[in-house]
Amino acid sequence: MKIVLLGPPGCGKGTQAKKISGKYNLAHVSTGDLLRKAVAEKTELGLKAKEYMDKGKLGPDELVLEIVKPGLSDDVILDGFPRNLNQAVMLKNFFSPDVVLNINVDFNVLVKRLTGRRSCRCGAVYHTEYNPPKKEGICDKCNSRLYQRDDDKEEVVVKRIETYKKETKPLIDYYKKQRILKTINGNLSIHDVFDEICRILNNKTYIPLM
Ligand code: ADP
Ligand code: ADP
Ligand code: ZN
Repeated sequence: MKIVLLGPPGCGKGTQAKKISGKYNLAHVSTGDLLRKAVAEKTELGLKAKEYMDKGKLGPDELVLEIVKPGLSDDVILDGFPRNLNQAVMLKNFFSPDVVLNINVDFNVLVKRLTGRRSCRCGAVYHTEYNPPKKEGICDKCNSRLYQRDDDKEEVVVKRIETYKKETKPLIDYYKKQRILKTINGNLSIHDVFDEICRILNNKTYIPLM
């Protein structure tokens, strides 16, 4: 099963991708995570990507394609790619999604989701109010101290939402035309959003072997 997750920053792509990948045994490929790893390792790619990320803009298509390519397989969930029409067209040459899950969240909710997000180096993601760790500021899974992403500060958050509206939103129509788009109400709780996604994925059209 090849899944693409689509939706604005903060809609819950990463949160749901982890749950889907666990339940359906799919690899989780997050371009955001891969780029942040490159930034932390200060690779050439990472240094280039950081300039765009700090401004709330998308990194160059070719650069992001190169980091996503090795992760493409028949059992994968793509979280954060494609993010514009050009990337979708480039992707089509070697990867055709079975289903595109479009997580729809009211724009006024997104700012609160993103500014309250707390992340761990281990990949775990929390929210100060909606999904707090057991001990404040400390990861449940690995006991490390949580941090706030630079681009989760309010000024950058607003820019990222603008970037989404301009560049990513057109992908909704693009995949609708291909009849593989399923829209999910992402305003619900993490648990209820996941239920809705599972209902869609359990429809055997998308899981021919299960
Ligand atoms: P994305 O990957 O789309 O940017 P995340 O999965 O990181 O989004 O979620 C953004 C923030 O919102 C995180 O702090 C996460 O814990 C929280 N969150 C995710 N889904 C929900 C939800 N359905 N309800 C409330 N908070 C959520
Ligand atoms: P979110 O889902 O919360 O918007 P991500 O972690 O997916 O955040 O992405 C963080 C940043 O990484 C983006 O703002 C952008 O600069 C860069 N990025 C991630 N995916 C892509 C992509 N497909 N193309 C270009 N830039 C990307
Ligand atoms: Zn951790």
